[in-house]
Amino acid sequence: MVKHKRPKLAVWKFASCDGCQLSLLDCEDELLAIAGEVEIAYFPEASRAMGPPPYDLSLVEGSITTPEDVERIQEVRKQSKTLITIGACATAGGIQALRNSRDVNEFISIVYARPDYIDTLATSTAIADHVPVDMQLHGCPINKHQLLEVLNAFLNGRRPNIASHSVCVECKQRGTVCVMVAHGQPCLGPVTLAGCGAICPACDRGCYGCFGPQDTANTDSLGNAWLQAGKQPGELRRVFHNFNAAAEPFAGAGSKYGQDDNS
Ligand code: SF4
Ligand code: SF4
Ligand code: SF4
Repeated sequence: MVKHKRPKLAVWKFASCDGCQLSLLDCEDELLAIAGEVEIAYFPEASRAMGPPPYDLSLVEGSITTPEDVERIQEVRKQSKTLITIGACATAGGIQALRNSRDVNEFISIVYARPDYIDTLATSTAIADHVPVDMQLHGCPINKHQLLEVLNAFLNGRRPNIASHSVCVECKQRGTVCVMVAHGQPCLGPVTLAGCGAICPACDRGCYGCFGPQDTANTDSLGNAWLQAGKQPGELRRVFHNFNAAAEPFAGAGSKYGQDDNS
């Protein structure tokens, strides 16, 4: 019997919390089936075994924050036939991109006892700002069912079926009462990409946009509605400048309501 050659998978980490890589390990019921279809060649979070390049598919977590990252991502791209970024850090710079509009040296001097040991860039940027990427999977963390869909599509040479509508659609699909209409709570659902299943409104709280902006997000309209409901500009700035602070149009929408500060 001829044994079929499995595509080689690599999972890379840049500046991140590892939560998106853990989404792959969280696929407990499906992990053995995945391992049967792909050779998990390089995944330091899961195994010390490190197979050599090239890789058929690379999943890249994290943002570019150091001079070493800038060089390493070029090597990763060269070694990967298909490269997919996973999570808010990799697709938008993550929460660490809040420093992009401030003086990073000020943060370093406050946070570290020996700032002279720190070698960092002034900004945290998305992987796609440095190398071409084949697909982006959003979320903080990503949704494991979307990840499985992407892996399945890759293995079958088809386009993944990933939603492009807003969280509001998922919210209505599950019959959740709108927290914004019913309770006046700020919710970023109308401008946020679906994929999580509208978890937060189902738990009686507004969406804080962890899946990033939806393609046709009308942040002006949402911002005006909140102001009319009595919200303060500073509140609007903080909700837009969060996990996807550097992703447009959230970046511009937040800046419209003032500069980031510690208030
Ligand atoms: S996107 Fe969120 S969960 Fe994923 S690595 Fe970044 S901080 Fe962690
Ligand atoms: S709770 Fe949020 S996500 Fe749900 S329908 Fe209302 S605005 Fe949209
Ligand atoms: S409802 Fe919004 S904040 Fe909550 S998990 Fe979904 S996208 Fe993220």
